Amino acid sequence: MGVESEFQKMADVSKIRKFRDADDYRRNFVVQEEIDKYLPGGRHFIDEAEINRCIAEVAEKPADPARVREIIAKSESTCETLLPEETAVLMSVTDPALFEEMRAAADRIKHKVYDNRIVMFAPLYMSNLCVNGCKYCGFREGNAAQKRRVLTMDELKAEVDVLAGRIGHKRLIAVYGEHPTTSTEYIAETIETCYARQVKAPKTGAPVGIRRVNVNAAPLPVEDLRMLHEVGIGTFQVFQETYNRKLYESMHPSWSVKGNYDWRTTAFHRCMEAGVDDVGMGVLYGLCDWRYEVLATVLHARDLERWFNIGPHTISFPRLEPASGTRVPEESPWLIDDETFARILVIMRLSVPYTGMIVTARERPESRNRVLDHGMTQLDCSSNIAIKGYSDFADEAQQEKTRQQFMLGDNRSIETMVRYLAERGIITSFCTAGYRCGRTGGCIMDALKTGREGKFCKINAVLTFREWLDDFAKDPETVRIGNALIEKELKGIEQWVPKFYPQVLKQYQATCAGSRDLFF
Ligand code: SAM
Ligand code: SF4
Repeated sequence: MGVESEFQKMADVSKIRKFRDADDYRRNFVVQEEIDKYLPGGRHFIDEAEINRCIAEVAEKPADPARVREIIAKSESTCETLLPEETAVLMSVTDPALFEEMRAAADRIKHKVYDNRIVMFAPLYMSNLCVNGCKYCGFREGNAAQKRRVLTMDELKAEVDVLAGRIGHKRLIAVYGEHPTTSTEYIAETIETCYARQVKAPKTGAPVGIRRVNVNAAPLPVEDLRMLHEVGIGTFQVFQETYNRKLYESMHPSWSVKGNYDWRTTAFHRCMEAGVDDVGMGVLYGLCDWRYEVLATVLHARDLERWFNIGPHTISFPRLEPASGTRVPEESPWLIDDETFARILVIMRLSVPYTGMIVTARERPESRNRVLDHGMTQLDCSSNIAIKGYSDFADEAQQEKTRQQFMLGDNRSIETMVRYLAERGIITSFCTAGYRCGRTGGCIMDALKTGREGKFCKINAVLTFREWLDDFAKDPETVRIGNALIEKELKGIEQWVPKFYPQVLKQYQATCAGSRDLFF
């Protein structure tokens, strides 16, 4: 960034450390005190011995149905994170009928916490320059098969024009490689650029734009996170990849920044300290024994709750996918099948009942359709994970190998998905009100656990679904199916909050008449 940008003129970037080059960054980026603070006495909250003990305890004996039902009841009534030994019991269930009881409970909890909404978002890849050497990733340094790119702000605007103006997205997950060129200042500038861009909806000409930018990037120091908080970051996602330290170290070379396990595992503690209190966890399933990863995720959530009273806002479930220049995704001994994937979702919904659960278009359509009633709450559609992919490819489904991290499994368009969901009685929500009203982190933990947030958000789901149908739906049949669902939802809201309903109806009618971005 040679010329001073609008962003640099506005923001106080003086506290953000600068690095000469990749080597300087690799040597000096990690701030050791910001790790040590959260590992008092050098003890790590990912307690390997405890995880192994939990796994061993349930290994040989079949799950006791009475104990399993007790744990399900606890999860459903309290919405509190389970103990690792309780999660281990759920993992040991092999009887299909008992598992079906777990699945049904996971679905009920999802409805209690989030109602029948699925939140829609899109990935937006900003850059694939990377100083790391993750053995499973096409973006890793030294992979000559990958064309390197960093979106300029003008290119980013063109991407947003397609995402917000042609597809109708309101919520993004912006994805970045780790490199000094695209460090915090760049991330902040891209977030601001996304928010500032307004375009016109194709059907109504209404002003539309991106209303929430979540970020998937490498762990950052506290000062850097403060800057992202200032520019209005949504959720900060960092996938742990694997919680197994040995395996982690074998996948992430020690010369790389990412090779530092403790820097990565304490990423969310720093987020919370900086005020970024919506954090998104994830494991890259297929690198290690899934049972280890699920228990470690529970321990991670519990440690955040212990320090800050706030757990993960979301948990994602990426599976290893084939990527350019690596055989790890094909050859790992820990790859999981669809059956296990579905089990993991149910177990996680019961184990961390209040969290949002994201299943991306990495999954094939059959797999995503199947787990819609396994507790998941968010998905992406019309996705393109090539850098500059949205504006370059007129055909939404087109993918290009050399420019993306891996190949997507589900290329359904947003309209196909919205309709499919509506036919299953699920409303697609484009709502982004939460963080804009300060309902983040601790403020919504209680509301989520008691089911208040789910009902409240239903109203915003209806308003934003109305907007999307009017602004973007191409096929009259989609509108017809969508209208029928909205009518049913409005009746439900009237019954739930009769006194408040006139206000809801007023906002709904204003939306029908062309007003935009009304929310509660
Ligand atoms: N560079 C940042 C980092 O690694 O934290 C964030 C961006 S990275 C592109 C986002 C995520 O992609 C990683 O955390 C990893 O879980 C996932 N990923 C990498 N290679 C993958 C593969 N072959 N299949 C599926 N997901 C992969
Ligand atoms: Fe870089 Fe992230 Fe890929 Fe690792 S996973 S090589 S850090 S982009």
